[in-house]
Amino acid sequence: MDAMSAVVDSGGVIPFLGAAAMTQKETQTKEKVERENRTTVGSLFVDDARMTCRSVNVYYGDKQAIRDVSIDVGRNEVLAMIGPSGCGKSTFLRCLNRMNDTVDICRVVGDIHLDELNIYDKSVDVVPLRAQVGMVFQKPNPFPKSIYDNVAYGPKIHGLAETRTDLDGIVESSLKKAGLWKEVSDRLDQPGTGLSGGQQQRLCIARAIAVRPEVILMDEPCSALDPIATATVEDLIAELREQYTIVIVTHNMQQAARVSQRTAYFHLGDLIEVGSTDRVFTNPRHRLTEDYITGRFG
Ligand code: ADP
Repeated sequence: MDAMSAVVDSGGVIPFLGAAAMTQKETQTKEKVERENRTTVGSLFVDDARMTCRSVNVYYGDKQAIRDVSIDVGRNEVLAMIGPSGCGKSTFLRCLNRMNDTVDICRVVGDIHLDELNIYDKSVDVVPLRAQVGMVFQKPNPFPKSIYDNVAYGPKIHGLAETRTDLDGIVESSLKKAGLWKEVSDRLDQPGTGLSGGQQQRLCIARAIAVRPEVILMDEPCSALDPIATATVEDLIAELREQYTIVIVTHNMQQAARVSQRTAYFHLGDLIEVGSTDRVFTNPRHRLTEDYITGRFG
């Protein structure tokens, strides 16, 4: 019998290879224990869910980036997703408005609902979906257009304004909600790219708000901003929560603690722990969460 047949016949253990066989078995046991230790702990589900995610798995080609993640996003809450770089935070965030559809090798399996809508249903048109579940990126990315047109573009293509007066109203109210109106009301015809970094990010938030989203996804929205602009955007997030549901990816734990009500900790593609932000930061239940927030990992 050759070694390969022995492996098959003995269920993976090679009896006459002694230490090598044990090593293989031990490795399997170790992997199993590690996997079991990565079962999500905490409160994954909420009573008033706006989005529900069940058994979500994401692959880039053969490589699995998200493993069996289930979680709710509550109405009018800010959910912070934290974890070491490469743990899958952005990948999971991008599942929530099918942004991963734009990556050829990316495959999403599982079930994600926005209220009653199965967002991965074949009949769903991603253009209106991405208005309902808007996105603000790490680096402010205004269009090379005027401040007015940056905000007006979405409502125009989604047919949200019948008249110019309607459109003016949407632009003004969106800029007000984004806390930018006072700074730009006298120069709406100037290029959005001429604003400061913090103003540009608030312009992008106004652009997302203008198409009447229900959920706003933010992927490290302050990482390119200075501390003052960061504080302004964080205050804005707190105000926006009254009207919207927000999911924010951040590598900054102080920011997660400041802006969110619930926190989800990811580790190597697994959702390790979810709970109220206060509880996760003061009394983490999982060793991996504790290691991360105390600076022992990541
Ligand atoms: P995080 O946001 O936590 O830093 P990401 O979601 O960006 O993590 O990445 C999770 C894993 O998926 C990483 O291993 C990363 O290399 C991989 N990944 C992310 N985007 C792509 C892509 N477009 N193609 C292939 N692999 C990717």
